[in-house]
Amino acid sequence: MEVVAGISLKNLKPRVWDPASPYYLPDLTAIMVSYADFHRSPSQRRAAMEQTLHAYLGVPHHIRIYLDNGAFYFLGRDGGVPRNEYEEFVQAAKPDWYPIPQDFIPTPTMDDEAQLSCLRRTMEMNIAFEHNGFVPVMHISRHLATYIDEFSKNQQLAQKDRVALGGIVPNLLRKPRAMPYANILKSLRQVRHVLAGKHLHVFGLGGTATLHLAGLFQIDSFDSAGWRNRAARGIVQLPGRGDRTVANMGSWRGREPDDKEWAILASCPCPACQQFGVEGLKMNKIKGFCNRATHNLWILLQEAQAIQIHLEAQTYRDWYHSHVENSIYRALLRDSLMLIEQESLPASN
Ligand SMILES: [Zn+2]
Repeated sequence: MEVVAGISLKNLKPRVWDPASPYYLPDLTAIMVSYADFHRSPSQRRAAMEQTLHAYLGVPHHIRIYLDNGAFYFLGRDGGVPRNEYEEFVQAAKPDWYPIPQDFIPTPTMDDEAQLSCLRRTMEMNIAFEHNGFVPVMHISRHLATYIDEFSKNQQLAQKDRVALGGIVPNLLRKPRAMPYANILKSLRQVRHVLAGKHLHVFGLGGTATLHLAGLFQIDSFDSAGWRNRAARGIVQLPGRGDRTVANMGSWRGREPDDKEWAILASCPCPACQQFGVEGLKMNKIKGFCNRATHNLWILLQEAQAIQIHLEAQTYRDWYHSHVENSIYRALLRDSLMLIEQESLPASN
């Protein structure tokens, strides 16, 4: 399970991919940049095309660069993603992974017809870009069965070795009319089953619970900008626990760490905490942001590794119970385990 760290062109700090940076994270293997950032900045777009993304961003070659098409940004903007410009960019800037130029995200509040229209438009794009390594996209929605059906009937799409899955986040965030959790879990299981052997990327995960779900459902990679967004709001992540606020960033107030959690932070082995301690996490401005962001991403990478190790050693069931502190998350993971175990029974075929 590869954690793909979402970054922003507007501020490349902390340079967690750079061995020369104090915030270097050796376990990081992939980052994601959004095409929307390049669309907004023609000079950066040109430079990345002239030099390639790796050279322009100063990212060593052992780190894969995923490109996001910026579907959220272009949603509701007239004309959407300029397809030719996107294709031109991909060819010159050479990201290691890139989806179709645009996908149309079905939100839970849409009625069935509107969700179906998103599917039609996304499928049209999947078919128009079935060549040259563009990764096709499908969404978790009330029409997932149609997606799966159309993917398997199209010879080119059926042969693709990489697929991206979107639309999970608005459902997990419990937006109005969101799908019940049980349906989301069943959808994940179904997609993994149908796309067996293919590299499956999920857009936009990164909280503690979703990280565990990604591991349980054998997702190959997922991207997250949460390590930075949380850092900007003064928030740090902790292994197996929810978010905690350590720096006061104005009016926004969240749950602060308790004594035990401050102790966990005080002995955190991440590069930021090792160099600048708990005081570093509490700082304001860019310094505090870099410390919290590095800490958060380090926690994410460690947690992903721990999940993999316990799944492989078949010790996950015992481990998650004591490791995951939030009872709602624990229930979600228990339901997921049940679903996965049902699948492995011969009778369920
Ligand atoms: Zn730390």
